Amino acid sequence: MTEETLFTKIIAGSIPSDKVYEDEEFCAFRDINPAAPCHVLIVPKKVIPKISDAQPEDAALLGRLLLAANKVAEQLGIAQDGYRYVINCGENGGQEVLHLHLHILGGRRLSWPPG
Ligand code: 5GP
Repeated sequence: MTEETLFTKIIAGSIPSDKVYEDEEFCAFRDINPAAPCHVLIVPKKVIPKISDAQPEDAALLGRLLLAANKVAEQLGIAQDGYRYVINCGENGGQEVLHLHLHILGGRRLSWPPG
């Protein structure tokens, strides 16, 4: 049985969300507390708690995650002006949800470095 997380519930639809993309491996939905005008989370349906938990057999999945994120950024209309991908890892990385996800942030000029 797959481990249940906040995001498996969102993917299953038992917690409502504003989904913008879904395929057999990934689901993308708008962040409930957006940090930019466009803030979407893209989540592998396979539960990998943290990026540091990824194994060699996840290499292709991680590559496809980036390619799917590129497609979502294009679909959201932020690709031309540019955007940022973020993966938070663990406590110091500010990770709140232990189900690997990539933040797609865009729609305004983002500052660097992050705080
Ligand atoms: P993390 O800090 O783990 O990298 O990011 C978790 C993200 O999930 C946060 O940006 C937070 O706003 C978002 N989030 C938390 N709960 C929910 C929810 O119930 N629905 C949606 N759409 N986003 C959520």
